[in-house]
Amino acid sequence: MDLTDFFDAVRATLKYRVALGIGKKKSAAGERDRNGARTREMPANYSATGAFCRDLLPEAGDFYRQHFGDGMRVTSKGWLVRCPFHDDATPSAIAYRADGGFHCFGCGVHCRDVLDFHQRLTGQDFKTAAQALGAWRAGR
Ligand SMILES: [Zn+2]
Repeated sequence: MDLTDFFDAVRATLKYRVALGIGKKKSAAGERDRNGARTREMPANYSATGAFCRDLLPEAGDFYRQHFGDGMRVTSKGWLVRCPFHDDATPSAIAYRADGGFHCFGCGVHCRDVLDFHQRLTGQDFKTAAQALGAWRAGR
């Protein structure tokens, strides 16, 4: 074997290792470009999967208008609406402007905020609901 054959063999081996991802260095925080943006996917064992961020929840008025449209009657504390949790012929529930809470005087359903309302209506778990409302910040 002369030297050319030797280097060809080394190159072939290296190509093979690269193709299989052998010897690839993994950092716990993933890899970032110089602007700090993530350039590769996070390793599967990375623990931080994000967090709920209350500040990102939609404003109560915007949120409930999406659900009830023009069927909202403005009151001093918020909006009188027909309850989606029971067969409501006349508006018997109130959506609160201050905290996004919801209360039905007909069936007694009470939601703490827009997230709680969304969860009860859709049956989604907390994280899924927070993501659906844009209030889940991805892990870093
Ligand atoms: Zn109700």
